[in-house]
Amino acid sequence: MEKEIHQLNIAGTTFRTIIEPFKIKSVEPIHMTTRAERQKILEVAHYNIFFVKAEDVIIDLLTDSGTSAMSSEQWAAVMRGDEAYAGSRSYERFEKKIKEIFGFKHVIPTHQGRAAERILFSVMCKPGDVVPNNNHFDTTRANVEFQGAIAEDLVIREGLDPQVYHPFKGNMDLERLENLIAKVGREKIPLCMITVTNNSGGGQPVSMENIKQVKKVLSKHGIPLYLDACRFAENAYLIKLREKGYQNTPVKEIAKEMMSYADGCTMSAKKDGLANIGGFLCTNDDHLAQQERDLLILTEGFPTYGGMAGRDMEAIAVGLEEVLKEDYLIYRIAETHYLGKHLEELGFPIMQPPGGHAIYIDAKAALPHIHPSQYPGQALVSELYLTGGIRGVEIGSVMFGKVDQETGKETPAAMELVRLAIPRRVYTQSHIDYVIEACKKVWKDREELKGFKITKQAKFLRHFTAHFDMA
Ligand SMILES: *Cc1c(COP(=O)(O)O)cnc(C)c1O
Repeated sequence: MEKEIHQLNIAGTTFRTIIEPFKIKSVEPIHMTTRAERQKILEVAHYNIFFVKAEDVIIDLLTDSGTSAMSSEQWAAVMRGDEAYAGSRSYERFEKKIKEIFGFKHVIPTHQGRAAERILFSVMCKPGDVVPNNNHFDTTRANVEFQGAIAEDLVIREGLDPQVYHPFKGNMDLERLENLIAKVGREKIPLCMITVTNNSGGGQPVSMENIKQVKKVLSKHGIPLYLDACRFAENAYLIKLREKGYQNTPVKEIAKEMMSYADGCTMSAKKDGLANIGGFLCTNDDHLAQQERDLLILTEGFPTYGGMAGRDMEAIAVGLEEVLKEDYLIYRIAETHYLGKHLEELGFPIMQPPGGHAIYIDAKAALPHIHPSQYPGQALVSELYLTGGIRGVEIGSVMFGKVDQETGKETPAAMELVRLAIPRRVYTQSHIDYVIEACKKVWKDREELKGFKITKQAKFLRHFTAHFDMA
């Protein structure tokens, strides 16, 4: 099944070259830099890639969030934006499209995903509560913990081993879920989440069967299930490719079925909304929706815009439809797999199999001479920038290492990954070939790379602002 990703069927003829299913109407120049310039830039940035100016990046694979190229239809929709404070027509179109695809009763607009998370957890969690997830995304975890609740990651064991093959490494471990419920008690678990695809766990999909089974376990205890739906379309397409019984089901129907097992969702439209900003929170619970809208008015805006402009909601309504087009999804998944396949051929240990939006390099395995306490992922991120002006991001101990606030002692993360996220519809095949060539040089020099130490950090989400130095 999987190898067919690398083939394109156009009007009954099979092509091995996957072409971008779009023409380019507007371009943005890339500013080229030299290695010497990049060395200076990194030093000024305290080796934190988040402090590097976008202009100084040649290929920006920092994130696929908010970086999508919008289509001409989306730009046309932008012009239709109704900027009325209350009762905007743009909200009506936004709500209608979301109800059509997601099927939830209440649609609460937010300026991005984390605002939906904050509202959801503020309303549902109290100190001491426990929220299970396959893997909490960093803002999700931070928002759970900000309420004094505990974020539990219950991904299946295969999901923790980058090298092992499993078609749905984002699946939740049902036994661990049952055990957790038995241990802490239902009253301490206000909700359970599943992240599709599992971003922090390597962008790995979750199977329909797993979503169904999780729902079954939760139903026995009356615990609601919410999906962190940021990459719902990529997850749905990977179900179509990898899960028995879905080969002939339209992706839109698969997406709808995924949602049908949930009681609500959080969504960042900056991912599979194909928009540059926006998000929403959905629920089927009238009482919760009321509380959520009250909080929304306090911090985000009136319930018919929630922190977005009318034009943003228009772009999202069109984006949600476009993201489910199979011509788009086959190209999307093929581009990611192409990068993964070539990095693997170079020798890079990568998270197998490639998921939807990114390639995750196992930095612990790639740089065994750098101990996790010296952040091998950070070393790789720096070298990628130096070599090719490529910006990736560390998803390892810099992001998820736990620092004991009293002793200052640090527990490393379970994995040391470097994510190369691919913005949607932005880079062409030759950009990806350039990335592969730069990676080849990095691989050749890998034994010379050095570890890092953190010289300054914040208490929450430290990776965004930390300062580093060579260890
Ligand atoms: C991006 C993301 C979020 C947060 O969304 P923002 O729009 O960045 O606030 C939450 N969960 C997952 C899985 C994400 O990828």
